Amino acid sequence: MTRQESYIQAVKIFNRWLEQKHLRKTPERFAILKMAWQMSGHFGVDALHEALENTSYHVSRATVYNTVSLLEDCGVLRRYQTGSEAQYETAGRSHLHLICNRCGAVREYDASADIASLLAPCRYEGFTPAWLSANVYGICADCAAKAAPENCNTSTN
Ligand SMILES: [Zn+2]
Ligand SMILES: [Zn+2]
Repeated sequence: MTRQESYIQAVKIFNRWLEQKHLRKTPERFAILKMAWQMSGHFGVDALHEALENTSYHVSRATVYNTVSLLEDCGVLRRYQTGSEAQYETAGRSHLHLICNRCGAVREYDASADIASLLAPCRYEGFTPAWLSANVYGICADCAAKAAPENCNTSTN
């Protein structure tokens, strides 16, 4: 699925969801959704608000917060928490987040083959998976290296 296709799909999902929940389809809500698709990678709500301001689209911070939470509820944005600020990204792209418990670094791991095998069991339930969202917590290589004994090199000069 291309970025444009996933955006069109997200608009459809959001439209339908707002109808079902009897919520208003305001132009602001759709402008925020559109901007979310223009953000690269992960973003915080403040960065999204700033990006809208930069295109001279004025909408309150509260509206951005509120809309992002609606977009999360309907499944087109996904959230993960590292440290104090929640990060968001658009749904539809399968990858793992490797999140370090010590320094909070988040690395994306695109392992299509591994992810396909993770999705396989879903099929047994008669469910057709589209994409996978998963966070893997642990210790990153940098932190592991720092934690290692001072000098493992036993060679003598
Ligand atoms: Zn780390
Ligand atoms: Zn990600």
